[in-house]
Amino acid sequence: MLSRRLKSLKAYKTETTPAKIKLSSNELPLDLPGELKEKISQEIKKISFNRYPDPHSEELKEVLSDFLGVPERNIMLGNGSDELIYYLSVAVGELNEGVYIPIPTFPMYEISAKVFGRPAVCVPLDKTFDIDLEGSLRAVKENSVRLAYYSYPNNPTGNLFSRDKILRIREEGVFSVIDEAYYHYCGDTFLEEALHREDTVILRTLSKIGLASLRVGMLIGKEEVISELEKVRLPFNITYPSQVIARIVLTEGRYFIDSAVSKVIAEREKVYRELREMDGVEVFPSRANFILFKTPFDADRVHEELVKRGVLIRNMSYLPGLEGCLRVSVGKPEENDAFLEALKESINYLTTRSEKST
Ligand code: PMP
Repeated sequence: MLSRRLKSLKAYKTETTPAKIKLSSNELPLDLPGELKEKISQEIKKISFNRYPDPHSEELKEVLSDFLGVPERNIMLGNGSDELIYYLSVAVGELNEGVYIPIPTFPMYEISAKVFGRPAVCVPLDKTFDIDLEGSLRAVKENSVRLAYYSYPNNPTGNLFSRDKILRIREEGVFSVIDEAYYHYCGDTFLEEALHREDTVILRTLSKIGLASLRVGMLIGKEEVISELEKVRLPFNITYPSQVIARIVLTEGRYFIDSAVSKVIAEREKVYRELREMDGVEVFPSRANFILFKTPFDADRVHEELVKRGVLIRNMSYLPGLEGCLRVSVGKPEENDAFLEALKESINYLTTRSEKST
């Protein structure tokens, strides 16, 4: 009875291995301060839990409008940007028209395209993890591509694709989704394009700046685009507790977000420098809150050795073009130090073992 299409699909996989130090999901490593949690619990008590939430999240949108610097009419909300990716995959172009995805990247783009039975036109990035323009233009023309997803910066490689290449592909009549989930760690944006063009939207999220548990994602686009996309949105997709909590944190807790993000950026540079100095490690520069790196050993073995030492990171070696690669999220200073120490020990251990076996 289930659709044949499901047979070829794989569910989104996330790291659930328990570990003392969790640097696997690109979350903000700091939890909200006590006084903010206190304020939240007072407000939560006032909620009528028997009632449906505001279907339009109006009060939250008002706060988000100020936070994002765009009018409310240009914002659509999703239960995480994941949900917005689903909406875009069903709403842009026809279902038999291709979805262009430069890979390796965030897996939800391909999963959502396939869920709706759309051809996923995946084109490998070049050696510098930038878009292969020639190959992409060819694939876009051959597969009547109407929709493209760009993780900007790209998860898991950490770099920004060339802006010119994204714009050139768009010239082929391709609706461009610029996923700026890591915007706060990078600062580059397509916001103006999204506000003024009908073929470009951007995605943002509260998940990477301390509120992953709320599931609030934002789509920014032209009013005409938003009002059409709103037709596919589920009626009560943002829970009322999430609306209330996000509103409090984005009004009274901005100082916390700003300072936490600055700390993570400083730590990112520290972890990057330390990884660069490690023998046998190749590390890739990052504009996000995570770092991709490679060791001479099998990534499964490195991952396993790190878990034994209480550190959980993400094995990326199953993605095309990322053989031997792992991704570490930037944590608190003491977590980053523990990771670096555990990685040194793991590499030493694996080196000794491989010397013994030769
Ligand atoms: N886009 C990218 C590029 C991501 O890396 C992630 C999370 N890993 C998401 C979207 C999903 O974000 P959200 O929690 O808002 O669904």
